[in-house]
Amino acid sequence: MQGAKVQELEGGFASFIGSKHCIAVANGTLALDLALRACGVGAGDLVVTTPFTFVATANAILHVGATPVFADIDPDTFCLDPKKALKVAGKRTKAILPVHLFGMPCDMTALMEAAAADKITVVEDAAQAHGAKWGGKAVGTFGKAGVFSFYPTKNMTTGEGGMIATDDDEVAEFCRQFRNQGQVSKYEYARFGMNYRMTDIHAAIGLAQLRRLAQFNEARRRNALLLTEALQGVKGLQLPEVPPNAEHVFHQYTVRVLAGREARDALQEHLKREDVASGVYYPMPLHKVPHIRVRAKRGYPVAERAADEVLSLPCHPGLTGRELAHVAVKVREFFTAHPEAAVGRQPPRPEAAEAEDDDGDQGS
Ligand SMILES: *Cc1c(COP(=O)(O)O)cnc(C)c1O
Repeated sequence: MQGAKVQELEGGFASFIGSKHCIAVANGTLALDLALRACGVGAGDLVVTTPFTFVATANAILHVGATPVFADIDPDTFCLDPKKALKVAGKRTKAILPVHLFGMPCDMTALMEAAAADKITVVEDAAQAHGAKWGGKAVGTFGKAGVFSFYPTKNMTTGEGGMIATDDDEVAEFCRQFRNQGQVSKYEYARFGMNYRMTDIHAAIGLAQLRRLAQFNEARRRNALLLTEALQGVKGLQLPEVPPNAEHVFHQYTVRVLAGREARDALQEHLKREDVASGVYYPMPLHKVPHIRVRAKRGYPVAERAADEVLSLPCHPGLTGRELAHVAVKVREFFTAHPEAAVGRQPPRPEAAEAEDDDGDQGS
């Protein structure tokens, strides 16, 4: 059950990121769902978001009865491109939902300006970006609400858990009531609600993690720096670059294999044989996922290319310098053995573009 530990975690997390309120829930997906509800997003509304994210981002939009509208990403940050977001926003657009992917903050200056011009609410998916900053301000505190996940792979965990951050008293009150069956106090109901509560057991884990979060993030940043130094100059590989205004917390250290999907997959196979873990986040942009699929004449070429090229290398706080050096050696080994992969970016496959145009499936 939810008790004093949950309250303590909420207070601690609010001061860590610098928000007025924090409301803990059972997981990050429900945190997104609840943040959208609290901002009045529901049936018939459109929510502009990125196609290059974990499926939970779009599932939460669908779960409140709204429809995701995708805008392509910025090739350098993998995050929603503010100009493209503004371009697809229309009359029925209720919210923009940027995702601070891999721990990299989105360009919140441009996004907040774009949203303000059209009076659109911003809800941030900071599920991978606890403590990341844009212009010195923590992500998750720019929009009307910001959302975090405490899943075990995230920068901090509660086992399973989620958090909504907001400076808005009404949004906070809505979230607190809704997560507890709409109750103001026992058996006094202000509204419809559900059980989205976090338990004190999970919050206790979170409190121990929160004390170490700054240190975890520091270790991730140090590991990223070591990888970047060790992988500098590998032809065919594009390393992550952090914009000057951003503080990245490296939930993932994601490189691009410029030769494309085949070479990327071969590198991953090579690493697997050498006992080096790696991951592809994400192999399929969300506009191609069957239950979400949306019709898009030109597709989302930047997101599609990213899905072909990305590979995330080990970067978590538990790694030693020796292990990171080993990762880099094994990556270099692959490009030496496969000169065909050590090339610049290839032109897009024409058949991919054609398939997109022929795609007559109706979107949701
Ligand atoms: C992890 C994650 C979520 C969902 O969080 P859960 O706690 O797993 O429900 C949402 N969005 C993004 C971008 C995530 O990485």
